[in-house]
Amino acid sequence: MQTLLNYINGNLTEPASGTYIDNVEPATGQVYGRIPDSDASDVERAVEAARNAFPTWSAMRTEDRSELMMKLSTLIEQRMEPFAQAESRDNGKPVWLARTVDIPRAVSNFRFYATAALHQSTAAHSMGSTAINYTLRQPIGIVGCISPWNLPLYLFSWKIAPALASGNCVIAKPSEITPATAFMLSELAIEAGFPPGVLNIIHGYGHKVGKAIVEHPEIKAVSFTGGTRTGEEIARTAAPMFKKLSLELGGKNPNIIFADCDFEKAVKTSVLSSFSNQGEICLCGSRMFIERPIYERFKEAFVEEVRKLKTGDPNEEHNRMGALVSETHMEKVLSYIELAKTEGGTVLCGGERIRPEGRCKDGFFVTPTVIEGLGQDCRTNQEEIFGPVVTLQPFDNEEEVVAYANSTRYGLAATVWTQHLTRAHRVAAALHSGIVWVNCWLLRDLRTPFGGMKDSGVGREGGFEALEFFTEEKNVCIKL
Ligand code: NAD
Repeated sequence: MQTLLNYINGNLTEPASGTYIDNVEPATGQVYGRIPDSDASDVERAVEAARNAFPTWSAMRTEDRSELMMKLSTLIEQRMEPFAQAESRDNGKPVWLARTVDIPRAVSNFRFYATAALHQSTAAHSMGSTAINYTLRQPIGIVGCISPWNLPLYLFSWKIAPALASGNCVIAKPSEITPATAFMLSELAIEAGFPPGVLNIIHGYGHKVGKAIVEHPEIKAVSFTGGTRTGEEIARTAAPMFKKLSLELGGKNPNIIFADCDFEKAVKTSVLSSFSNQGEICLCGSRMFIERPIYERFKEAFVEEVRKLKTGDPNEEHNRMGALVSETHMEKVLSYIELAKTEGGTVLCGGERIRPEGRCKDGFFVTPTVIEGLGQDCRTNQEEIFGPVVTLQPFDNEEEVVAYANSTRYGLAATVWTQHLTRAHRVAAALHSGIVWVNCWLLRDLRTPFGGMKDSGVGREGGFEALEFFTEEKNVCIKL
């Protein structure tokens, strides 16, 4: 039985409470480890450590901070396989996916921000012979990073890396559902030689550790990725304390397929954009809109491809989908499939829990599910399911589909399939989404802004936006 520890002031330590939470392996349904059930007193100890570390860390040359981060990224890369195995076991995703996406991406997140910080510059505004203004960008101090379970190390590093690169000390909390790779990261931070207190990783529940981070008066900025409801709660606490907030929240993303699309590519990529990581990616398209002239043909081809997706043991390379992250989440997904039926939907494929033979018989597996026959306003098409469930809907013209696409409270990502260049630009501009992919999906350039509109969030991560979020801007005006 694996027991994880907090990482506070450079040491791996037990939680103040002395109590632990069970960690369940989603593919087997069995408890396989324990994680610290930390509370506000652990956060307090981490803040003390960060307070002591900040003067030296923030004054360190950017090159030296960058070197430490590069070292950390290399250490993760050298342990790619154990990290991939751990991520898969903790989350239920296939090992091949963790090996090709999650862990390599965490490595590049650290590398990207270790090097981006070296190229950051600030503005100067000359007032001729009267004065010169220049802008300083200074680290905020102690910042909080709170992340979800779907892409555990990938999203954790996406926050920690820019926060550290810009000279802040970090109190970070991974999801209590997927803590394993964050713990492994803390071991590597020690090996890389990070000064004590610069990075602190505290495990435990959101309503204890997460809440304590958000409420702590010395933590001046919080970068959060998770559900919209949690985001609302965080905003309620943090806003009157005038904290900087970056909130990356839920989505209900449209995938729009015009009749003039490259048919084969649209089918193939839509299978990925619907069901990658069991549909547990905030960027997955869950509402597919297909232009009426190709609706039937597309539906047939799509469902045929979806039926080929094998769901089962995440350790087996041929399985395209693994287990959902928890029993509670599986029940939620299944309840939405039942809801879709009561709302008048027809399940074209999938729609049920499966129990693979052998070690995974009690795992949380749901087959990829495609539903048609539902209207815009039903709950199935308005609420985030965050699992392997998509709906198909026909549309007749551009104006109509843009209205459909924009009809939810969310605005994270959208995908558009068309060969018509002008229409691609026009629709991209009209969609209420922070990210629009045209004829592709999940093609990511780390320099681009990442985030959502409406109830999908506030602020942008990625590129220099994240470095800006984790710094305070100061104008210095010098009279000549
Ligand atoms: P969640 O909101 O339940 O939890 C996210 C994190 O917040 C966890 O670490 C949790 O412990 C913590 N938390 C919970 N309550 C808290 C509180 N009161 N104060 C502070 N922290 C608290 O979300 P989840 O179920 O882990 O993740 C799924 C959600 O994340 C989905 O809605 C998905 O769309 C969203 N998500 C969004 C993005 C994005 O980039 N926009 C990316 C991935 C996931």
